[in-house]
Amino acid sequence: MKKEKEKPKRGKQNETQQLLMLLGHAIQQVAGKSAVDLAGIIYGKRDLNEFIIAKKIRLTINQTRNILYKLLEAGMVSFTRKKDKDKAWYTYFWTLDPLKALGFSEQMLKKEGENFRKQAHLRKTRRFYICKNCGIEVNEETALINDFTCTECGNVYELNEDKKLIDEIQGKINQVEKNIAQVRAEMDKLKAQEVKEAGRLKEKKKPVKKKTSSKKKKVG
Ligand SMILES: [Zn+2]
Repeated sequence: MKKEKEKPKRGKQNETQQLLMLLGHAIQQVAGKSAVDLAGIIYGKRDLNEFIIAKKIRLTINQTRNILYKLLEAGMVSFTRKKDKDKAWYTYFWTLDPLKALGFSEQMLKKEGENFRKQAHLRKTRRFYICKNCGIEVNEETALINDFTCTECGNVYELNEDKKLIDEIQGKINQVEKNIAQVRAEMDKLKAQEVKEAGRLKEKKKPVKKKTSSKKKKVG
């Protein structure tokens, strides 16, 4: 008998997928195209054996190390290493710094959003002309210089008020905003976890209650 409860939480799954995609984007920016799948492999894990990473990402160990070193330079990963038994070399174990990686992702998204906003502003405040014959669009200055005539076919330019395009750009801006919000929410979650863990560690460190006066003298 199958349990009905087995159904995966779709919304949550999509959210994770989306987050990994955003992270993959950031990692790709730092370490190149072949690194795009690394996010799904390394996110949320600790001390991942580099040979396992290489196998999962389907690259050679050297290619994998190249990617990881680039991420190391960007401060997005850290490593520990262990000397192999009876061998002279080390195996490296990698951990992604999720806050650094997400921070990088946030910066990238902000830049993206800024570009779209500029585009939208340009669209809204400046006129563009189009030759409907060739589908070539020019800005107002160029249209003026060309005497409002297409240089390709001699057709007269028409004002190109592409409401759809502005809507499209606005849609992209909205998506970027959503992505930023998601990245930030994840960062907040991680920070809260860190604070919690730090608190727990503190508790463990002082099993004996110290007798200290609660009031401290202020100096100065
Ligand atoms: Zn034309």
